[in-house]
Amino acid sequence: MAGEKSEKQEKSQGEILKEKLFYKTKQGFETLDDEKIKTAFDFCEGYKKFLDNGKTEREAASETVKILEENGFIPYEFGKKYNPGDGVYLNNQGKNILAARIGEKTVDNGINIIAAHIDSPRIDLKQRPLYEDNGLAFFKTHYYGGIKKYQWLTIPLALHGVIVKSDGESVAVKLGENEIDPVFCITDLLPHLAKDQFSKNLADAVAGESLNILLGSRPFRGDKDSKDKDKTEDKVTEKVKLNILNMLNKKYGITESDFISAELSLVPAVKSRDVGFDRSLVGSYGQDDRVCAYPPIIALTETKKTDRTAVVILADKEEIGSEGNTSMQSHIFRHLVESLADMQGVSRFTMFANSNCLSADVNAAFDPNYADVYETRNAAFLNNGVVLTKYTGSRGKSGSSDAHAEFIGYIRKIFDDNNVLWQTSELGKVDQGGGGTVAAYIANLNINVVDLGVGILSMHAPFEVASKVDIYMMYEASKAFIKA
Ligand code: MN
Ligand code: MN
Repeated sequence: MAGEKSEKQEKSQGEILKEKLFYKTKQGFETLDDEKIKTAFDFCEGYKKFLDNGKTEREAASETVKILEENGFIPYEFGKKYNPGDGVYLNNQGKNILAARIGEKTVDNGINIIAAHIDSPRIDLKQRPLYEDNGLAFFKTHYYGGIKKYQWLTIPLALHGVIVKSDGESVAVKLGENEIDPVFCITDLLPHLAKDQFSKNLADAVAGESLNILLGSRPFRGDKDSKDKDKTEDKVTEKVKLNILNMLNKKYGITESDFISAELSLVPAVKSRDVGFDRSLVGSYGQDDRVCAYPPIIALTETKKTDRTAVVILADKEEIGSEGNTSMQSHIFRHLVESLADMQGVSRFTMFANSNCLSADVNAAFDPNYADVYETRNAAFLNNGVVLTKYTGSRGKSGSSDAHAEFIGYIRKIFDDNNVLWQTSELGKVDQGGGGTVAAYIANLNINVVDLGVGILSMHAPFEVASKVDIYMMYEASKAFIKA
């Protein structure tokens, strides 16, 4: 018998039925054609730039405004009239961006919303950070978000943020990103003297108060020619701290009290990189959640015309519980869309009731090195597309916005109709831990919402890993949802 014919005949009835009835996710690199994979890789080049230029919520917000303005979006003014096709944005305190494309239909027909966050775990300075101890200068810190503290020791760190001086002037700080810049670090104990440390629990081995940033070691030295040098200079204490403050005073015009009105953070001083021989992955700091922030912003700028008004929210403070007026619990989103309803003279209540939202946040991708914490039938896998997460929470779904079956049915149809690769997942085994997203706060407005995002490895670590096809699928998913 000829090979070809016999192979076809060899498919048994059971096999054919299995293909029809069983659910199987698709591996992106095996499913997409070469051209699509190239498009995905190209998309990630822009994404990597966004990561490198936006390592804090402020910087990510500025990068987003740049992208929006390059694409014709203009600052939104409350009370002003806007027309279908207009692109507008609100910049909330430089930390939270809301961008909207006005739809052809009035907003009481519902709005398509995508909400991601642009803050990431990091090491923040305390309000009185600078001190000297035994000839070395340090910053005291208070970490931001859920970190495994040991991961932040002995890696190069860059200083990012703003200092608002007593006269009100704001000075931007970004030090440690250029090759010629100095960097900072947190020291760790040598193994030779770590007997006691080795016997501690991983959670207790590094104390929060020991995350002190090494800043310098060179004492202040007065003018060599001064006659009084020998007599007076020796009486000065804390000369290393003094020398650093003197340098900061010359560079930024600040004194020690200006740290009180500053927001300074230490972030990993490394750029995003391709990971692997095949370059199939992106490794970077801050992918949670900028991997879900950049794709919808690009999708929104590219969608010039939509039926329903589309809003992309990039929120701040998600990593510390979404409190504060730049977070998802801020009423600014309501103010924006309610003012759109007022402008069009339509019902706010109907608008909320008809609106849909993707709460865009990362989920944990299956890591074969830590297989025990995952339940593989309900885990997300790298390269298998965006992750639809019906519920988050912990200990019996507590704290979760459990999405309705009808809404998930609606979303999966949009994805299937637009060839979006997607999978479903929950965060690890039952009772292994848990987490939350901004979904619940949006749901409280009577909006249908479900979590959607990219699966990542080493979440909250200084170097997180995501798949290029998944990142690209986040863009395809956003585009399909915005147009829906
Ligand atoms: Mn997140
Ligand atoms: Mn997170």
